[in-house]
Amino acid sequence: MQKNIICVSCPMGCGITVELNDNGEVVSVSGNTCKRGDAYARTECTNPVRSLATTVKVDGGIHNVVPCKSAGPIPKARMMDCMNEIAKAEVKAPVILGDILIENILGTGINIVATNHCPAK
Ligand code: SF4
Repeated sequence: MQKNIICVSCPMGCGITVELNDNGEVVSVSGNTCKRGDAYARTECTNPVRSLATTVKVDGGIHNVVPCKSAGPIPKARMMDCMNEIAKAEVKAPVILGDILIENILGTGINIVATNHCPAK
């Protein structure tokens, strides 16, 4: 099987072709201009990951929510589960930028961290 993807690791946006065998294993990667593209293509075809950015509810803050993001990429297949987990969460004010709001979300090894402050009322 052949997959054509666009590398998003830099603004050049190289078109990459990945050949996969019947087991879904990468046989060859072509079209990439650098090694980052090779690594991106292999990950994208075998275990795609995405960064996550959203908000978490805050109790007792000057705002009801605080923006947050995943501290690293999360497997694409776990994104909805992680979003649901974040939607259920509520943290206490004050929140400081960089605070870990959810540690090791759903066992992914990735923390959800605040990307802004939310002082207490
Ligand atoms: S293959 Fe390399 S040069 Fe091309 S888009 Fe990816 S990172 Fe950029």
